[in-house]
Amino acid sequence: MNLDLVIRNGILDTSGEPVEVGIADGHIVAIEPEGLPDGAQVLDAGGGMISPAFIESHFHLENALIWDGAINRSGTLREAIELYAEVKKRLTVDDIVERAGRAIREAVAHGTLWLRSHVDIDHIAKLSILEGVAAAREANRDIIDVQLVAFPQLGLTRNPEAVDMMWAAMEKGCDLVGGMPHGERDMDDAARHIEIAFEIAKAYDADVDMHIDETDDPYWHSLELLAEKTIEMGWQGRVTASHCCAMSAWDDALAERVIDKVREAGISVVTNAPINLMLEGRELPHPKPRGIARVKELIEAGVNVACGQDDLQNMFYSYGKMDPLEVAVITAHAAHLSAPHEIQAAFDMPRYNAARLWPLPDYGLKVGAEANLIVLDARSAVEALRRQPDRRYVIRKGRVLTETRTDVRWYRPA
Ligand SMILES: [Zn+2]
Repeated sequence: MNLDLVIRNGILDTSGEPVEVGIADGHIVAIEPEGLPDGAQVLDAGGGMISPAFIESHFHLENALIWDGAINRSGTLREAIELYAEVKKRLTVDDIVERAGRAIREAVAHGTLWLRSHVDIDHIAKLSILEGVAAAREANRDIIDVQLVAFPQLGLTRNPEAVDMMWAAMEKGCDLVGGMPHGERDMDDAARHIEIAFEIAKAYDADVDMHIDETDDPYWHSLELLAEKTIEMGWQGRVTASHCCAMSAWDDALAERVIDKVREAGISVVTNAPINLMLEGRELPHPKPRGIARVKELIEAGVNVACGQDDLQNMFYSYGKMDPLEVAVITAHAAHLSAPHEIQAAFDMPRYNAARLWPLPDYGLKVGAEANLIVLDARSAVEALRRQPDRRYVIRKGRVLTETRTDVRWYRPA
């Protein structure tokens, strides 16, 4: 057996059993408890977990790391969108490529090899932001796969000019059709927004990923409209609903009805807990709603749930480090996920669950799959989330991209 790369002394991410992985021509060709011959390169996993790499399901590359002069004083989503509408007028391609590149390198070093980015398409930016993000995708295609979602953040019925821009954005290389129906005037216009998006999706045979009900206002339940439209169009399994915050403020009867339809429509839900915890509930009196999707109920109903970073140090969110384990552990806090099976569910969100919505049918640690792996300095899901430890190695298509060693030195008193 001629191996390019062998990883020894690891454990399987699924069962915790000892494992060695052999890689040739960019693919996994052997998975054995022990005894693989040496390859051209040999890595020591140090007893850590070998896992398929992470997937970032919801991000915005173009406004990552915009910080100086863009301070959101109210801390609300509304002010963030207003601030960004001004800032976006002066974004250049070079600037987007530089900041997006920094965000991508942080993501890759944390083991993320796929990233879905929503790109603002509207009457202000027209297609200029898409140009920048597409250039960033091109500049980084040797280290990460990027999907682009055409995202009409300022509305379609509110800003009819954006409809033409959305068609043009798909023509110019966006992969998915996005949306933000709760940004329209009322639920009737939200329905029209969803209808327009599906017209475009049908014409391009594209999947759909919308920002849904990112608000505390229980009036908004466009998730229900999205589920109904998905079924009507036969788009089951091809639609993602991101955010879904308002369901935190719905009564239980409405939540049960809509979650039922979401399951029937095969919609995946991406929760962006860090951002939602920060932006929602700002102007409400106590007791405040939690402001995030009902993750526990969705999981219990059999809905596929993933999580996303959404924003990185900008007017929407001051923090972030492009680490899916940080996002997953914040999600676990926000959604009360503490039992062992719930911890496993949180750990799977940026991995197996996200692979279903991308979709990546070949995802996983299995013979024949492309070798897109991480060696994680953890021995269990709970340890991975608790410590968010080093990604000792990040391997893409059989090639080591990064190696990370945090070096703690003790100087104990004698
Ligand atoms: Zn978003």
